[in-house]
Amino acid sequence: MNIGIIGLGLIGGSVLKNLSETKHNLYAVTRNKETLEKIKNITKVCSDDYSILKECDIVFVCTPVHKITETLDKLENILFSDCIVTDVASVKEFVTKRKRPYKFIPSHPMAGTENSGYDASFKELFEGAKWVLTPYDCNETEILTELIKKMGAIPIITTAEEHDKAVAMISHVPMYLSQCLFKKAEENKLAMSLASSGFRDTTRLAMTDINLAKDMLKYNSKNMDNFIDDLILELKAFKENYKDETILEIQKNRKKMYSVDGKNIFK
Ligand code: NAP
Repeated sequence: MNIGIIGLGLIGGSVLKNLSETKHNLYAVTRNKETLEKIKNITKVCSDDYSILKECDIVFVCTPVHKITETLDKLENILFSDCIVTDVASVKEFVTKRKRPYKFIPSHPMAGTENSGYDASFKELFEGAKWVLTPYDCNETEILTELIKKMGAIPIITTAEEHDKAVAMISHVPMYLSQCLFKKAEENKLAMSLASSGFRDTTRLAMTDINLAKDMLKYNSKNMDNFIDDLILELKAFKENYKDETILEIQKNRKKMYSVDGKNIFK
Protein backbone atom coordinates (compact mmCIF):
# COMPACT_ATOMS: atom_id res chain seq x y z
CA MET A 1 0.00 0.00 0.00
CA ASN A 2 0.95 3.66 -0.33
CA ILE A 3 0.97 5.07 3.20
CA GLY A 4 1.24 8.77 4.02
CA ILE A 5 2.29 10.30 7.34
CA ILE A 6 1.86 14.01 8.16
CA GLY A 7 3.80 15.53 11.09
CA LEU A 8 6.97 13.65 11.98
CA GLY A 9 7.13 14.17 15.73
CA LEU A 10 7.07 11.51 18.44
CA ILE A 11 4.02 9.70 17.05
CA GLY A 12 4.39 10.37 13.30
CA GLY A 13 8.13 9.63 13.39
CA SER A 14 7.45 6.37 15.24
CA VAL A 15 4.82 5.34 12.65
CA LEU A 16 7.32 6.11 9.86
CA LYS A 17 10.21 4.23 11.52
CA ASN A 18 7.97 1.24 12.31
CA LEU A 19 6.52 1.02 8.78
CA SER A 20 9.97 1.46 7.20
CA GLU A 21 10.52 -2.22 8.00
CA THR A 22 7.55 -3.27 5.84
CA LYS A 23 7.13 -3.39 2.05
CA HIS A 24 4.69 -0.45 2.00
CA ASN A 25 5.59 2.71 0.03
CA LEU A 26 5.93 5.59 2.47
CA TYR A 27 5.05 9.23 1.77
CA ALA A 28 6.13 11.66 4.49
CA VAL A 29 5.05 15.28 4.95
CA THR A 30 7.13 17.44 7.26
CA ARG A 31 7.58 21.20 7.58
CA ASN A 32 11.00 20.67 9.10
CA LYS A 33 14.05 20.82 6.77
CA GLU A 34 16.27 18.91 9.21
CA THR A 35 13.71 16.09 9.45
CA LEU A 36 13.53 16.01 5.63
CA GLU A 37 17.28 15.31 5.54
CA LYS A 38 17.07 12.70 8.32
CA ILE A 39 14.36 10.61 6.62
CA LYS A 40 15.93 10.47 3.15
CA ASN A 41 17.28 6.98 3.92
CA ILE A 42 13.75 5.84 4.87
CA THR A 43 11.74 7.30 1.99
CA LYS A 44 12.52 9.33 -1.10
CA VAL A 45 8.94 10.62 -1.21
CA CYS A 46 9.07 13.36 1.40
CA SER A 47 8.11 17.00 1.18
CA ASP A 48 6.39 19.89 2.94
CA ASP A 49 3.77 19.73 0.18
CA TYR A 50 0.58 17.73 0.88
CA SER A 51 0.06 17.00 -2.83
CA ILE A 52 2.57 14.09 -2.63
CA LEU A 53 -0.17 12.21 -0.73
CA LYS A 54 -2.51 12.12 -3.75
CA GLU A 55 -1.89 8.43 -4.53
CA CYS A 56 -2.06 7.23 -0.91
CA ASP A 57 -4.29 4.36 0.26
CA ILE A 58 -3.92 5.31 3.92
CA VAL A 59 -2.87 8.60 5.57
CA PHE A 60 -1.88 9.09 9.25
CA VAL A 61 -2.41 12.67 10.48
CA CYS A 62 0.05 13.13 13.37
CA THR A 63 0.00 16.90 13.90
CA PRO A 64 -0.75 18.56 17.29
CA VAL A 65 -4.40 18.36 18.45
CA HIS A 66 -5.10 22.03 17.63
CA LYS A 67 -3.86 21.50 14.04
CA ILE A 68 -5.80 18.29 13.27
CA THR A 69 -9.01 19.90 11.90
CA GLU A 70 -7.01 22.24 9.64
CA THR A 71 -4.97 19.30 8.34
CA LEU A 72 -8.09 17.16 7.70
CA ASP A 73 -9.64 20.10 5.82
CA LYS A 74 -6.56 20.48 3.58
CA LEU A 75 -6.71 16.77 2.68
CA GLU A 76 -10.26 17.15 1.35
CA ASN A 77 -8.93 18.71 -1.86
CA ILE A 78 -6.13 16.21 -2.34
CA LEU A 79 -7.20 12.63 -1.54
CA PHE A 80 -9.46 10.25 -3.44
CA SER A 81 -12.73 9.15 -1.80
CA ASP A 82 -11.47 5.59 -1.19
CA CYS A 83 -8.40 6.74 0.77
CA ILE A 84 -8.47 5.78 4.47
CA VAL A 85 -7.47 8.64 6.77
CA THR A 86 -6.85 8.43 10.49
CA ASP A 87 -5.69 11.06 12.96
CA VAL A 88 -3.86 10.15 16.17
CA ALA A 89 -5.04 13.01 18.42
CA SER A 90 -5.34 12.28 22.14
CA VAL A 91 -8.92 13.66 22.16
CA LYS A 92 -11.53 12.31 19.76
CA GLU A 93 -14.97 13.93 20.01
CA PHE A 94 -13.97 17.18 18.29
CA VAL A 95 -12.93 15.42 15.06
CA THR A 96 -16.27 13.64 14.67
CA LYS A 97 -18.26 16.81 14.04
CA ARG A 98 -18.46 16.46 10.27
CA LYS A 99 -18.40 13.96 7.43
CA ARG A 100 -15.28 13.82 5.28
CA PRO A 101 -15.09 13.06 1.54
CA TYR A 102 -12.55 10.29 2.26
CA LYS A 103 -12.81 7.25 4.61
CA PHE A 104 -12.07 8.94 7.91
CA ILE A 105 -11.56 6.74 11.00
CA PRO A 106 -10.33 8.73 14.03
CA SER A 107 -7.84 6.92 16.28
CA HIS A 108 -5.53 7.31 19.28
CA PRO A 109 -2.48 5.16 20.05
CA MET A 110 -2.23 4.77 23.85
CA ALA A 111 1.54 5.10 23.74
CA GLY A 112 3.84 8.03 24.35
CA THR A 113 6.66 9.54 26.34
CA GLU A 114 7.21 13.01 27.76
CA ASN A 115 9.50 13.78 24.79
CA SER A 116 8.49 15.28 21.46
CA GLY A 117 9.88 15.76 17.96
CA TYR A 118 11.37 13.39 15.38
CA ASP A 119 14.50 12.53 17.41
CA ALA A 120 12.28 11.30 20.27
CA SER A 121 10.47 8.83 17.99
CA PHE A 122 11.29 5.11 17.90
CA LYS A 123 9.87 2.13 16.01
CA GLU A 124 8.97 0.06 19.12
CA LEU A 125 6.73 2.79 20.63
CA PHE A 126 3.48 0.95 19.85
CA GLU A 127 4.62 -2.54 20.95
CA GLY A 128 1.88 -4.05 23.14
CA ALA A 129 0.01 -0.71 23.39
CA LYS A 130 -3.75 -0.33 22.89
CA TRP A 131 -4.67 1.74 19.81
CA VAL A 132 -8.22 3.09 20.03
CA LEU A 133 -10.39 3.55 16.92
CA THR A 134 -13.57 5.65 17.12
CA PRO A 135 -15.38 5.17 13.77
CA TYR A 136 -18.49 7.33 13.33
CA ASP A 137 -19.08 7.69 9.60
CA CYS A 138 -16.91 5.03 7.95
CA ASN A 139 -17.02 1.55 9.53
CA GLU A 140 -14.50 -0.11 7.19
CA THR A 141 -11.91 -0.54 9.92
CA GLU A 142 -10.33 -3.82 8.81
CA ILE A 143 -7.38 -2.50 6.76
CA LEU A 144 -6.47 0.01 9.45
CA THR A 145 -6.76 -2.48 12.33
CA GLU A 146 -4.54 -4.97 10.45
CA LEU A 147 -1.89 -2.28 9.95
CA ILE A 148 -2.10 -1.25 13.61
CA LYS A 149 -1.57 -4.90 14.61
CA LYS A 150 1.47 -5.10 12.29
CA MET A 151 2.89 -2.10 14.17
CA GLY A 152 2.66 -4.16 17.38
CA ALA A 153 -0.43 -2.48 18.87
CA ILE A 154 -3.80 -3.87 19.95
CA PRO A 155 -6.80 -2.19 18.25
CA ILE A 156 -9.79 -1.31 20.46
CA ILE A 157 -13.01 0.02 18.92
CA THR A 158 -15.26 2.39 20.89
CA THR A 159 -17.03 5.73 20.49
CA ALA A 160 -15.37 9.14 20.67
CA GLU A 161 -17.54 10.07 23.67
CA GLU A 162 -16.55 6.96 25.67
CA HIS A 163 -12.91 7.41 24.68
CA ASP A 164 -12.77 11.03 25.84
CA LYS A 165 -14.41 10.17 29.18
CA ALA A 166 -11.95 7.30 29.74
CA VAL A 167 -8.78 9.24 28.85
CA ALA A 168 -9.87 12.10 31.13
CA MET A 169 -9.65 9.54 33.99
CA ILE A 170 -6.45 7.74 33.12
CA SER A 171 -4.43 10.41 31.34
CA HIS A 172 -5.66 14.01 31.29
CA VAL A 173 -6.71 14.46 34.94
CA PRO A 174 -3.66 12.49 36.22
CA MET A 175 -1.42 14.86 34.24
CA TYR A 176 -3.22 17.88 35.65
CA LEU A 177 -3.09 16.49 39.24
CA SER A 178 0.59 15.78 38.80
CA GLN A 179 1.29 19.39 37.77
CA CYS A 180 -0.93 20.75 40.54
CA LEU A 181 0.66 18.53 43.20
CA PHE A 182 4.14 19.64 42.18
CA LYS A 183 3.16 23.32 42.14
CA LYS A 184 1.58 23.12 45.62
CA ALA A 185 4.41 21.08 47.21
CA GLU A 186 6.93 23.55 45.81
CA GLU A 187 5.60 26.10 48.30
CA ASN A 188 7.37 24.09 51.02
CA LYS A 189 11.18 24.06 50.62
CA LEU A 190 11.71 21.32 53.24
CA ALA A 191 9.16 19.07 51.49
CA MET A 192 10.96 19.54 48.18
CA SER A 193 14.36 18.74 49.69
CA LEU A 194 13.02 15.57 51.35
CA ALA A 195 11.08 14.29 48.32
CA SER A 196 12.33 10.95 46.98
CA SER A 197 11.25 8.28 44.47
CA GLY A 198 7.55 8.24 45.48
CA PHE A 199 7.16 11.94 44.70
CA ARG A 200 9.27 11.55 41.54
CA ASP A 201 7.04 8.74 40.21
CA THR A 202 3.79 10.48 41.22
CA THR A 203 4.76 13.70 39.41
CA ARG A 204 6.19 12.12 36.24
CA LEU A 205 3.25 13.32 34.15
CA ALA A 206 4.04 16.93 35.09
CA MET A 207 6.75 16.54 32.41
CA THR A 208 4.15 16.10 29.63
CA ASP A 209 4.96 18.26 26.60
CA ILE A 210 3.48 21.73 27.22
CA ASN A 211 1.57 21.99 23.92
CA LEU A 212 0.01 18.54 24.36
CA ALA A 213 -0.90 19.39 27.99
CA LYS A 214 -2.62 22.63 26.92
CA ASP A 215 -4.50 20.82 24.14
CA MET A 216 -5.79 18.13 26.56
CA LEU A 217 -7.14 20.82 28.89
CA LYS A 218 -8.74 22.78 26.07
CA TYR A 219 -10.25 19.92 24.05
CA ASN A 220 -11.33 17.59 26.88
CA SER A 221 -12.28 20.21 29.44
CA LYS A 222 -15.87 19.01 30.05
CA ASN A 223 -14.83 15.40 30.87
CA MET A 224 -11.91 16.60 32.98
CA ASP A 225 -14.18 18.91 35.01
CA ASN A 226 -16.72 16.12 35.58
CA PHE A 227 -14.04 13.70 36.74
CA ILE A 228 -12.35 16.29 38.99
CA ASP A 229 -15.76 16.92 40.67
CA ASP A 230 -16.21 13.14 41.22
CA LEU A 231 -12.67 12.85 42.53
CA ILE A 232 -13.10 15.67 45.08
CA LEU A 233 -16.14 13.86 46.51
CA GLU A 234 -14.28 10.53 46.47
CA LEU A 235 -11.22 11.99 48.25
CA LYS A 236 -13.39 12.99 51.22
CA ALA A 237 -15.53 9.81 51.28
CA PHE A 238 -12.49 7.52 50.93
CA LYS A 239 -10.68 9.12 53.90
CA GLU A 240 -13.74 8.90 56.11
CA ASN A 241 -14.17 5.24 55.27
CA TYR A 242 -10.51 4.13 55.05
CA LYS A 243 -10.74 0.36 55.56
CA ASP A 244 -8.08 -2.37 55.34
CA GLU A 245 -10.13 -4.46 52.93
CA THR A 246 -10.57 -1.53 50.51
CA ILE A 247 -6.84 -0.77 50.48
CA LEU A 248 -5.92 -4.44 50.08
CA GLU A 249 -8.45 -4.79 47.22
CA ILE A 250 -6.87 -1.78 45.46
CA GLN A 251 -3.39 -3.26 45.89
CA LYS A 252 -4.50 -6.69 44.57
CA ASN A 253 -6.17 -5.16 41.48
CA ARG A 254 -3.29 -2.74 40.80
CA LYS A 255 -0.83 -5.67 40.95
CA LYS A 256 -2.93 -7.71 38.49
CA MET A 257 -3.22 -4.81 36.05
CA TYR A 258 0.41 -4.67 34.85
CA SER A 259 2.84 -7.38 33.70
CA VAL A 260 6.42 -7.43 35.02
CA ASP A 261 7.55 -5.46 31.95
CA GLY A 262 4.95 -2.75 32.69
CA LYS A 263 2.28 -3.62 30.07
CA ASN A 264 -1.41 -3.18 30.90
CA ILE A 265 -2.87 -6.71 31.03
CA PHE A 266 -6.23 -5.71 32.53
CA LYS A 267 -9.07 -8.08 31.53
P1 NAP B 1 5.22 16.18 18.51
O1 NAP B 1 6.34 15.26 18.83
O2 NAP B 1 5.31 17.61 18.90
O3 NAP B 1 4.93 16.08 16.96
C1 NAP B 1 3.96 16.82 16.31
C2 NAP B 1 4.47 17.12 14.91
O4 NAP B 1 3.45 17.85 14.22
C3 NAP B 1 5.70 18.03 14.89
O5 NAP B 1 6.88 17.30 14.99
C4 NAP B 1 5.55 18.69 13.53
O6 NAP B 1 6.01 17.79 12.54
C5 NAP B 1 4.05 18.82 13.36
N1 NAP B 1 3.60 20.17 13.76
C6 NAP B 1 3.96 20.86 14.88
N2 NAP B 1 3.37 22.08 14.89
C7 NAP B 1 2.61 22.15 13.75
C8 NAP B 1 1.79 23.14 13.18
N3 NAP B 1 1.62 24.30 13.79
N4 NAP B 1 1.20 22.87 12.00
C9 NAP B 1 1.38 21.67 11.39
N5 NAP B 1 2.17 20.69 11.87
C10 NAP B 1 2.77 20.92 13.04
O7 NAP B 1 3.86 15.65 19.15
P2 NAP B 1 3.33 14.16 19.30
O8 NAP B 1 3.49 13.77 20.72
O9 NAP B 1 3.90 13.30 18.22
O10 NAP B 1 1.78 14.41 19.07
C11 NAP B 1 1.21 14.37 17.78
C12 NAP B 1 -0.22 13.91 17.91
O11 NAP B 1 -0.23 12.64 18.57
C13 NAP B 1 -1.09 14.84 18.77
O12 NAP B 1 -2.31 15.01 18.15
C14 NAP B 1 -1.20 14.10 20.10
O13 NAP B 1 -2.42 14.37 20.75
C15 NAP B 1 -1.12 12.66 19.66
N6 NAP B 1 -0.60 11.72 20.66
C16 NAP B 1 0.44 12.05 21.46
C17 NAP B 1 0.90 11.13 22.42
C18 NAP B 1 2.04 11.46 23.34
O14 NAP B 1 2.16 10.87 24.42
N7 NAP B 1 2.93 12.37 22.98
C19 NAP B 1 0.30 9.88 22.52
C20 NAP B 1 -0.74 9.55 21.63
C21 NAP B 1 -1.18 10.48 20.71
P3 NAP B 1 6.96 18.28 11.35
O15 NAP B 1 8.07 19.04 12.02
O16 NAP B 1 7.38 17.02 10.72
O17 NAP B 1 6.12 19.14 10.45
